[in-house]
Amino acid sequence: MEAVEYFKEATEDARKALCLRSKCGSIVVDVNGNVIGRGYNAPPQDDVSIRRCNRKHELPSTFKSDKTCCVHAEQRAIMDALKNNPDRLNGSTLYFIRLDDDGGMKYSGKPYCTICSKMSLDAGIKYFALYHKEEICVYDTKEYNELSFAYKE
Ligand SMILES: [Zn+2]
Ligand SMILES: [Zn+2]
Repeated sequence: MEAVEYFKEATEDARKALCLRSKCGSIVVDVNGNVIGRGYNAPPQDDVSIRRCNRKHELPSTFKSDKTCCVHAEQRAIMDALKNNPDRLNGSTLYFIRLDDDGGMKYSGKPYCTICSKMSLDAGIKYFALYHKEEICVYDTKEYNELSFAYKE
């Protein structure tokens, strides 16, 4: 399958997102082209009673940890792959997509999430694919991690 088809697959997961701030989807694809993990962003265990999406203003400016409200789609996809296909992560590719307000694919900006960059590296994922406006970019995960740490707004 071509990369764009995998982004379409990830879009299906993004439609299930339970976050109130953004709808994201992610899939992990093994070296043979099979989907081995998938995820969307949502509160832990999909428990909407503990949703924090509209409570960002409660965090003090001194808050030290990750300020995002939900579990990231990439984290979910990686955990899914680790749970169901732990032997097939080495050399795999992660695809990530965010939806726009109309439910279509939204182009990604530069890599910036160091939580997901570290986690994918740790899990043995080899490539991290983003759908940029100019082109689909398949980053080596090590490079993706370096770029994320170097990101400036
Ligand atoms: Zn959220
Ligand atoms: Zn992330």
